Amino acid sequence: MRLTNLIFFLLGQLLLVIIATFLLGTLLGGFYHSALIIISAYLILMLIYVFSLKESLQHGFKIKWLGTRGFLSEVNSSIEALSKSRWRYRKRFAQLIKEVNALASAIPDAGIIIDEFNNIEWCNRSSLTLLGVDQDRDIGQKVGNIIRFPAFNHYLKNHKMDNFIDIEDSNNKRFLRFRIVEYHDHSSRTKKFISVRDVTAQSKLNQIRKDFIANASHELKTPLTTIKGYSEIINEDSKEQELANFANQITLQADRMNKIIEDLLSLSKIENSDMELNDDLIDVGSIINQVLESYESLNKKINFKLSIECDKKLISDESLFYSIVENLISNAHRYTDEGGDVLISWSADAEYATFTVQDTGIGIPQESIERITERFYRVDKGRNAKTGGTGLGLSIVKHALDRMGAELIIESELQVGSSFSCRFPNKRLAKD
Ligand code: ADP
Repeated sequence: MRLTNLIFFLLGQLLLVIIATFLLGTLLGGFYHSALIIISAYLILMLIYVFSLKESLQHGFKIKWLGTRGFLSEVNSSIEALSKSRWRYRKRFAQLIKEVNALASAIPDAGIIIDEFNNIEWCNRSSLTLLGVDQDRDIGQKVGNIIRFPAFNHYLKNHKMDNFIDIEDSNNKRFLRFRIVEYHDHSSRTKKFISVRDVTAQSKLNQIRKDFIANASHELKTPLTTIKGYSEIINEDSKEQELANFANQITLQADRMNKIIEDLLSLSKIENSDMELNDDLIDVGSIINQVLESYESLNKKINFKLSIECDKKLISDESLFYSIVENLISNAHRYTDEGGDVLISWSADAEYATFTVQDTGIGIPQESIERITERFYRVDKGRNAKTGGTGLGLSIVKHALDRMGAELIIESELQVGSSFSCRFPNKRLAKD
């Protein structure tokens, strides 16, 4: 609708009113009264038109009496087109909602939306089969009252963006993987999306793998002890130097294999979720000193420095903490050249209590940092062979920290040094 159309329309209407007033005036013999009658009639007509437009918009019917030509019919058809497109949009929107609902019902994972007070706002059909959350019954209920696993309620309070937990549903003999994602709705209210997947098959396979490693390691121990015993006897009793050297090599390699087996067994023990962790009161300084004692007699001299800024005890499992300290100090010792420095510190701030081992050793290439906690990952085979490691030390550290609810932060620069920090939440510190 252009401006010229509007001007023509207004001029036309004015002309019409004037002509009608003139005609009625001549008929009645008075222009004043006839102007009043015509303008009133014109206003009434406009009111009828506006009213009809309103009705046509609300109920979607066509105002037939306006015809197909002229300014008013143009206004009418524009409004009609607008209302049609609005209707089409609503229909498409309703279809989309239907499709999303159908999709949500079809997926095998459970999906639940909860508000900032943990009340259930929406859930899909699988929520009923996996968790017993009913679309018709449980909307508006507290999610913790319906999903009653203690581990889930703990996770609900402490979840992070990228983590998940696997929970055993012993009643139904299955394992469920819970993942919580936080987001903001259109009015910036914080909501959470809980997705739950049945990972029973995956967990069983994982368990088979863990059991296999634990059993195989255990079975290897006995023959290895025998091999080591005989090689030691041959080494001691042999008159031939060459034979004694061979036997010595066998003993050394048997020792190495034994260490790998010990590490594999520790790792599977740590990974075993049935293993209960103790809440010991750990004197971190004394554990560090105990571990350092074994380095005093070694030939390779490293300058160990200690910085204990936090005098509070750590509440956690002492044997796991010991193996963390032992592995990190052993690595710092092995991967730092003679005469280098290793700083071992224990400190706390408002959020975390941190145990750090920092060395001036050979460092780790950036691309390897995120992989060195994998089992048997080696930066390069040469450096491992020289230092006699098992390739499992950092794996043990990482898994132990996971179990203790702590995290490992690794920073390193090649030929400058490395720093391994174990960060415990502050609530793990004893009060006095
Ligand atoms: P390993 O028994 O081989 O030392 P770890 O799991 O303890 O096994 O370490 C994995 C790899 O990470 C090592 O092979 C080594 O290359 C690297 N690494 C670990 N600690 C350090 C460190 N302090 N400095 C440099 N490299 C390190």
